[in-house]
Amino acid sequence: MIKAVLFDMDDTLLSINLTAFIASYVSRKARLLAEVSSSSVVSMGMPFARSYLAISSDSRQDSLTNEQLFNETFLTETGIPLDDPVIADAVDCFDAEVTPTLNGRTVHAVPRRGGRKAVEAARKLGLTVALATNPSFSEACVRARMGWADVEDVPFARISHMANSTRMKPDARYYEEFVSALGLSCEECLMVGNDATRDFPRPDCGLVTAYVGHARPKRAIWRGDMERLSRDLPFLIDRLDGDRSRGMPDDWAEPGSSD
Ligand SMILES: [Mg+2]
Repeated sequence: MIKAVLFDMDDTLLSINLTAFIASYVSRKARLLAEVSSSSVVSMGMPFARSYLAISSDSRQDSLTNEQLFNETFLTETGIPLDDPVIADAVDCFDAEVTPTLNGRTVHAVPRRGGRKAVEAARKLGLTVALATNPSFSEACVRARMGWADVEDVPFARISHMANSTRMKPDARYYEEFVSALGLSCEECLMVGNDATRDFPRPDCGLVTAYVGHARPKRAIWRGDMERLSRDLPFLIDRLDGDRSRGMPDDWAEPGSSD
């Protein structure tokens, strides 16, 4: 029985040039850290890259949160303790004040058509909704993007970010932690996402994914755009619950069908 729908954010609820956003975010943050530590901005580039690589490594064995491992790696690389209260304060302030201003012409972040409608369709069915965005950013940074996606007021039961997650997508451990924090199992949740790799847990942990996009991932149980998902969701949930009494719409988006 499906009890919750987990939504990815970037290019699922939010249209965004993610590469441009990350470039802008990291370069502004590097400038800030260079200032507070009296280092050069250029010397920050590699440590940032290595810290992001560390948290997304497939061979992780640790039980640290992504934030703890990021900070630990950054400290080893630069000698800068990101968890020092003064530095942490400057970073928090940056995330709250500067990050929401980074939506320029190149980043061009706007709500994804049908995104909010699909979230509301899930809520109308009495399902829990949660925001399963890849936890590589702080909570404040996730919330800034929620504002751009026009979902900042949605009562998501859980929002993943780097301080409450110990793995990244598509690691099954990330998904298992996420659903258990909701008090649910993977079989009781439906994931909705646009990434043919990251939004499908690896290894398979029983969580099914509705795929938003034009590729044809084998494991997708549905494919289409968010507008269509907002219409198909009741039928999709019935089907996953093994109840076909409602019947499928004529243009049902079966994976592999041409649309
Ligand atoms: Mg995405």
